[in-house]
Amino acid sequence: MIVVLLGPPGAGKGTQAKRIEEKLGLVQLSTGDMLRAAVAAGTEIGRQAEAIMKAGDLVPDATMVHMISERIELPDCAKGCVLDGFPRTVAQADALDRMLEGKGLVLDRVIEMKVDEAILVERITGRFACAKCGEGYHDTYRQLKVEGICDVCGGGAFDRRADDTVETVAQRLAKYNAETSPLLDYYAGTGALASVDAMAPIAEVGQAIDRLLDGSVED
Ligand code: ADP
Ligand code: AMP
Repeated sequence: MIVVLLGPPGAGKGTQAKRIEEKLGLVQLSTGDMLRAAVAAGTEIGRQAEAIMKAGDLVPDATMVHMISERIELPDCAKGCVLDGFPRTVAQADALDRMLEGKGLVLDRVIEMKVDEAILVERITGRFACAKCGEGYHDTYRQLKVEGICDVCGGGAFDRRADDTVETVAQRLAKYNAETSPLLDYYAGTGALASVDAMAPIAEVGQAIDRLLDGSVED
């Protein structure tokens, strides 16, 4: 099964992609995570992407399409994947269609995560993640059970993203509205598109996604 989560930064794509990964065994393919790993590793792509990401702009389509096409070929994606942060432009969506067609696959679901823009700054500036296992948290909406200790792996160090600032959110949102939101029209005619209310609490959003994925996810 191939699922795309579509929504502005902070809508909850990563949070729900991880949940789908755990419950359905679909691999989460987050282009943002891949780029951050490239930046941390100091690769050529990472060096090129770092300033673009800090500014809240989009990394060129050719780079992103190459990155996903290589990743989707790996054996762990055989059962399917949940794309989080890709496609982000019509050119990327076209390339994804061709990629899947070449593999005899179809895009099963495109799930729009609908939110009011007004809440995105709070979602994004409150976000942090475990430095060891990557589990995502929020200062208000998904707090640590024990202060300073990761619920999942017991790690004691946490990261905040360099681009999760009030200034960068505005540009990331502008890019979403200009470049990514046209994908709603792009997918509207395909029958794959559906929406969930991503303003609801995390567990409720998860349940709405479960229903869209035909009840194949169980709690
Ligand atoms: P995205 O991947 O779309 O940028 P995330 O999944 O990282 O968004 O979520 C952004 C922040 O908001 C995280 O700190 C996450 O814990 C929190 N969050 C995610 N979904 C919800 C929700 N439905 N209600 C409240 N907070 C949420
Ligand atoms: P994300 O983790 O999805 O919020 O992405 C963080 C940043 O990585 C974005 O603001 C972009 O600069 C870059 N990025 C991630 N995915 C893509 C993509 N599919 N196309 C272009 N840029 C991307």
